[in-house]
Amino acid sequence: MAKAIRLVLLGAPGAGKGTQAKLLQEKFAAPQISTGDILRKAVADQTALGKQAADFMNRGALVPDDLIINIVGERLAADDCKQGFILDGFPRTIPQAESLDATLKRMGQPLNCVLSVRVPHAEIVERLSGRRTCRKCGALFHITFDPPRAQGVCDKCGGELFQRDDDQEATIKKRLDVYESQTAPLASYYAKQGLLREVDGVGTIDEIRTRVYAALGDLVQ
Ligand code: AMP
Repeated sequence: MAKAIRLVLLGAPGAGKGTQAKLLQEKFAAPQISTGDILRKAVADQTALGKQAADFMNRGALVPDDLIINIVGERLAADDCKQGFILDGFPRTIPQAESLDATLKRMGQPLNCVLSVRVPHAEIVERLSGRRTCRKCGALFHITFDPPRAQGVCDKCGGELFQRDDDQEATIKKRLDVYESQTAPLASYYAKQGLLREVDGVGTIDEIRTRVYAALGDLVQ
C-alpha cells in the first residue's frame, strides 16, 4: 500500500514530468497539480489570471511569483490534497519554493520527496518540438516517438491534437535558459533539506517509470 505522497517533480520543460506525474497520480490516488495546465486553462477561458499570464507564457518567461503562489496555495487547500499531491512545474524559483515550504508547514503537510528528472538539453529540444497535446483530455503524444494512430487525433478520446505555442524551437531555447538560471538552483535548495532524489529521464516511459518507483523506494511500498 503506497503512503501519502507530497512530491515536487523537478526538471526542465520536456523532461517528462507531466507524463510521470499522470502515472504517479493513479498509483498514489493523489492529484497532479500542474501550474502550466492551470495557466493554459486560464488563458483559454480568458480569465483575469489568463490575461495576465498569456504574454509571459508566449515569450517562454515565467509568470510573476505572486500570481502563481496564490493559485497553488488555494489548490493545496482543496480536500483532494489531504491524501497528498504531486506538484508538476511548481516551484520554479527560490521564492516560490520558500513560500511553498511556509504554506505546507502551516498545513502540517511538509514535502516528503523532491524528484529531479534529468534529460540533456539537446534531447529536450527534439522532444518538445515534436510534442502534441490533446485539446480535450490533455493526453500527450510525440510525432516521432509516440505518434497517435491517426494524425492529429487523440487515441484516448478522439480530441484534436495541437502544438503548444511555447513548443516552437526559439521559445524552447528561451525556456531552457530560464530553467537553468531560475529553476535549476532548486536542486541544491532541496538537497540541503535532504529531500532531493534524482532519476535519469532518458529512455522509454516505462523505463523511466521503473526508475521513478525505485527512487521513491520507501514511499511506494
Ligand atoms: P509548463 O507547462 O510547466 O512548461 O509551463 C508553461 C508556462 O507556464 C511556463 O513557460 C511559464 O510561462 C508558466 N508557468 C508554469 N508554471 C510556472 C511557475 N511555477 N512559475 C512561473 N511560471 C510558470
